[in-house]
Amino acid sequence: MTLLEPTTTASVDRTIKLITTGKSGGSTCNTDLAAEPWDFDSRPGYGPGASMGDVIPTNAPRQGSLPAEYRDASPEELDRRIRAVKETMGERLVILGHFYQRSEVVQYADYVGDSFQLANAAKANPKADAIVFCGVHFMAETADLLSGPDQAVILPNLAAGCSMADMANIDQVEECWEELEAQFGPLDQPGSDGRVPVIPVTYMNSSAALKAFCGRNGGIVCTSSNAETVLAWAFERGQRVLFFPDQHLGRNTAKAMGVPLEQMPMWNPNRPMGGNDAETLDDSQVILWHGFCSVHKRFTVEQIERARVEYPGVRVIVHPECPMPVVDAADEYGSTDYISKAIAAAPAGSTFAIGTEINLVQRLAAQYPEHTIFCLDDVVCPCSTMYRIHPGYLAWVLESLADSDSTGPEAARVVNRITVPAADAAPARLALERMLAARPPVAGGGGIVAS
Ligand code: SF4
Repeated sequence: MTLLEPTTTASVDRTIKLITTGKSGGSTCNTDLAAEPWDFDSRPGYGPGASMGDVIPTNAPRQGSLPAEYRDASPEELDRRIRAVKETMGERLVILGHFYQRSEVVQYADYVGDSFQLANAAKANPKADAIVFCGVHFMAETADLLSGPDQAVILPNLAAGCSMADMANIDQVEECWEELEAQFGPLDQPGSDGRVPVIPVTYMNSSAALKAFCGRNGGIVCTSSNAETVLAWAFERGQRVLFFPDQHLGRNTAKAMGVPLEQMPMWNPNRPMGGNDAETLDDSQVILWHGFCSVHKRFTVEQIERARVEYPGVRVIVHPECPMPVVDAADEYGSTDYISKAIAAAPAGSTFAIGTEINLVQRLAAQYPEHTIFCLDDVVCPCSTMYRIHPGYLAWVLESLADSDSTGPEAARVVNRITVPAADAAPARLALERMLAARPPVAGGGGIVAS
């Protein structure tokens, strides 16, 4: 596991403010990004940024209003208050910061990494009563699954969901499963080849309810680092895979494994049989859920072509949540961890065009001044749900915790605790454990996807 040292020198927030006040060139996808996130807590939608056009579920958690003392505090005041609580709580507190989080928050993180690295960091700190996860909702759920029962996992702003994770909910997936059962017969009965008709595979970017669904139905979780290993695990046990919620990760990974595109139909949850006929489903190897990440959907082949013209010799690396033509046009693709390691290992003077969330790209550019590193998309457009975390919310949850001078989460005033219901926790952990136990089919097997 690689966890980066927090760095403080890059700020997408500052870039956006300079653009919107005309003090800098460039453009942003939404000038509302210059406002503070609490301006959007009571409004419908995900807030400004790359996910604005996606439909937020009606039952998505809502953040209550942030007390004025945090909304009105200056950055210096918030900085002093956050550091004071960190100092007071010491080992009783761990702050986790996702790679895509704004630098104004990442500077306080004890660990910076991807969602699974951070969930493991929660597990590796059993002395912490409180784990404050500066990421999005499904990440805090995963940290709750992997941390101890007496540890409270806290999400500073409940409106920090994930538009991709929200594109598949448990009711839709159960309905889909019933339709597949009508098509293929009992889904837990192996055929003559010893494999069941369908294995469900969920991306880490999904609710705990979907991870639990996979645990109950012989399925498994994957990350963007191990998707190929996990799909190989699933094909050993199933004639086909139902992959949710990210169609692009599923398609890019299965294609790299040799699965023909015509055997990867899409499942649209709003249409009977997902919009497929029986023959198509019979022939399928991977049924792809109609989900996507609005941040990674912004990257295009034209951006790559332009980067190659403007920067001859540029190395283009994109995330596998990007659409297939973009992944095909790039030099490499891989998880955030893969991208970070590729840059760290490159000789000085390298030039990188990166297709992933702008906060990570800008931080990497600041961290490695010996390279030229830029985002493929020159419109500054961060993830709108990561954007919902701000130092004001962080100060609020931390000072609530520090209100108590006793130890233990029940002694402190824990706000915004994320708890996975007991009925889901055990099967969700089972699906995660299957992922951890899965091994690549060929020892030392290569491939471009990070492993
Ligand atoms: S970048 Fe995409 S997948 Fe990641 S949290 Fe944001 S919307 Fe979700």
